[in-house]
Amino acid sequence: VTFTEILDQYQVPYLTEGHRHCRAGWVQIDCPFCGRNSDKYHMGYKLDGGYLSCWKCRGHSLYSTLMEITGEDASQISKLLKGIERETFEPKAREKKGELVLPKPLEALTKAHLTYLEDRGFEGVQLSELIRLWKVQACGPFTRVKTPEGKKINLAWRLFIPFINGGEIVSWTTRTISEKVSLRYISAPPDCEAISHKDILYGQDYCSHAACAVEGPIDVWRGGPGFVATAGTQYTRAQVNALSRYAIRGVCFDNEPEAQRSARMLCDELSAFPGKTLLFQIDSKDLGEASAKEIRSIRRALRI
Ligand SMILES: [Zn+2]
Repeated sequence: VTFTEILDQYQVPYLTEGHRHCRAGWVQIDCPFCGRNSDKYHMGYKLDGGYLSCWKCRGHSLYSTLMEITGEDASQISKLLKGIERETFEPKAREKKGELVLPKPLEALTKAHLTYLEDRGFEGVQLSELIRLWKVQACGPFTRVKTPEGKKINLAWRLFIPFINGGEIVSWTTRTISEKVSLRYISAPPDCEAISHKDILYGQDYCSHAACAVEGPIDVWRGGPGFVATAGTQYTRAQVNALSRYAIRGVCFDNEPEAQRSARMLCDELSAFPGKTLLFQIDSKDLGEASAKEIRSIRRALRI
């Protein structure tokens, strides 16, 4: 059985869309711990993750929650839990799907790419995470993208950075590994994206109850899972909505006046939503250059 079949069986009302606490891939119910019959739908169950999080009182085990909502005894709950199946992640209908076009060829990171990353302070676990978690690849000397209209864009000697949404690559950007190239980032043109990279948050797949918004992928890699990038300080409405759905959200933009103004605006907008919003200011230029101590203190404040 699935979680929603159990809800049906015990006649527990639930919502998957149309309420401000709903988000794609989650089922919302009244929290049996802090809002029984409140019609507030504070508690969410993540369909593909199998865990629960309440907007107000945060995480609860599936065991204790099922006990509360079904009123069954321990042995019956254990039986239910054993048979529980994961449900599939339904793609959001409002996301307009385009055709993803990838640069070619893409290869494993070369010595030049690794040197660039090491120079930026990525080593050990963080370096292996870049490959394993963030699926970063290399654009070699001949890498380019050919758009559906036949336009060719040269992407030689760059890091290939995919935007992954629900486990799938939906868009991408690239970053030069040479300090002499003026165009630091070249992103997928709109006709090469399945979903616009400004409609989603880079790194959102690895968040649960909290997310810290930063400017770019490199900041996310430094911060680790739980950090998301808006791809620049000019965040979009879709990104505000996506952020508003986390119970705890942080904002940590670069340490310069314009970025800080933008960070304060984003925090103001997010404060209108239920949950907690925290503004982080760091001593380093950006999170990509932040010290391990600064990152630890942000992670601790967000409980990630
Ligand atoms: Zn609750």
